Amino acid sequence: MTTGREDRMPGGQAKHVVPALHIPDAVRVGVIAGMDEHELWLQGHLMACEGCRAPLIALLLGRTAVKVARPAEIPCAKARSLMFRYLEGGAHPDDATFAHITSCDLCDDLFFEPAQAVILREYEPEHVGEVD
Ligand SMILES: [Zn+2]
Ligand SMILES: [Zn+2]
Repeated sequence: MTTGREDRMPGGQAKHVVPALHIPDAVRVGVIAGMDEHELWLQGHLMACEGCRAPLIALLLGRTAVKVARPAEIPCAKARSLMFRYLEGGAHPDDATFAHITSCDLCDDLFFEPAQAVILREYEPEHVGEVD
């Protein structure tokens, strides 16, 4: 656990620690807590932002072999937290996290659905409709 970034220092000096990070801490915390407004923001952002979408697509393409028959036994909050860490350039999520995100309707909607929606829109594959 880290204490997170200090965006507003008392001295007024903004620290640009993670300039590539588009997702505000408030959204991140809100999504982990399951708050609708923040989940909507994240979905919208992933649809619009290629920089944040790219790691998700890379993950989807690289992990197709993982079996997702059953949700892994980790809570949504933990899986979401690890996904955010990955989006920020951290370690790839482990299999349990990936399995959770892909098998949990709520989490899948948040991360992979927006990315996949964009892929489908861009490439228009002939054989969509594969459901588990
Ligand atoms: Zn972004
Ligand atoms: Zn979940």
